[in-house]
Amino acid sequence: MSTVILDQVSLAYPGGTLGLADIDLNIGDGEFIALVGPSGSGKTTLLRTVAGFATPTLGEVRIDDTIVASSTHSVEPERRGLGMVFQQHAVWPHWNVGRNVEYPLRRAGVPRAERLQRVTETLALVGLSGYEKRNPATLSGGQRQRVAIARAIVARPRVLLLDEALSALDEPLRDRLRLELRQLTRELGLTVIHVTHDRNEALALADRLVVLEGGRIQQQGTPAEVLRAPATTFVANFIADATLIEGTVSPKGFTADDHPLTLASAALEMLGISSPPAASNAAAELAVLPEHVRITADPAGDAVVVSSLFGRDGDDLVVDWRGLRLRSRAHGVRCERGTHVRVDIERAFVALIGEGADSAAAARSSSQTKHALTPEPQGVVI
Ligand code: ADP
Ligand code: MG
Repeated sequence: MSTVILDQVSLAYPGGTLGLADIDLNIGDGEFIALVGPSGSGKTTLLRTVAGFATPTLGEVRIDDTIVASSTHSVEPERRGLGMVFQQHAVWPHWNVGRNVEYPLRRAGVPRAERLQRVTETLALVGLSGYEKRNPATLSGGQRQRVAIARAIVARPRVLLLDEALSALDEPLRDRLRLELRQLTRELGLTVIHVTHDRNEALALADRLVVLEGGRIQQQGTPAEVLRAPATTFVANFIADATLIEGTVSPKGFTADDHPLTLASAALEMLGISSPPAASNAAAELAVLPEHVRITADPAGDAVVVSSLFGRDGDDLVVDWRGLRLRSRAHGVRCERGTHVRVDIERAFVALIGEGADSAAAARSSSQTKHALTPEPQGVVI
């Protein structure tokens, strides 16, 4: 049970790739964080930085009140008191289950009798009672992943780090293990950082979602906050399947480029700034959430359904509206492919892009100090 703090952490890989930039993250004791973002957004780098396999170029990492990493100082991974589970190769195939789970205790010098008792207890926790003597090769993927989880928690870590730990599993097993993992970590009061590229998994599990893109935190908040009030058009698109549309914005509203779509300012929610710039027609990007796209079947409608997937609460639709592909998740509506429809956009988020966005962002962050980044010569420390 612990807190984890990343304070202005940046990490540049040798060669200059920015792995992480200005990460400020405070993780509370017992909190379950889901770290999400597209491939290459820095999720693994962040986890490795907390674990001690990568060292920040700037800033510091604290676990409880101890500084475990800064540009000048790094506590070895095995002395950070963490448990880790990765997507693959998590279980040593040449050792039986008991020996695998026992390993962290053996390394910590725990006496044999206590080791055996702790292994028995931990295997029971993950639903594998009596599996001590089994060869990992005879287990299913889900069971092997449970062994990896057991090994990660057997030494009672301060923090559990999971990197795509469930991603290699097939549904519905994955779904079940998800629920079990959540229950288990809650019972043990574990602080968890769970990296996943699966948005639904993140939404289902997390107390708080942290969305990364390009090594930066785009937004952090509860799943409901991030879904309903995305901080950026990227987050709206990545988390909530928003359609992004370029155009211009003025105090009157939004006008799409190359499309008849216009939206009055009353239907717009500005992201990053409080109101549209007074100057006319600033370049902007609109983010339209599927639930804000109202579809009405109409033979004379100027849009057509190009894809229709059955969903629990209504069909998940893609409509082509005069060349614009929009996602719609209108409740209760069933529409077959090829149906002609009318489209009404009830609400949308809008953000400035290009020069306007740069000056809006500069105004917001003018109080923050920016650091110059220099790549660390030795890079990753393993
Ligand atoms: P994610 O886990 O979100 O897919 P990563 O943290 O693995 O992202 O990568 C973030 C960025 O850092 C990517 O641009 C990736 O190419 C780069 N990167 C990751 N590891 C290294 C490395 N060892 N050396 C150089 N660049 C790296
Ligand atoms: Mg990764």
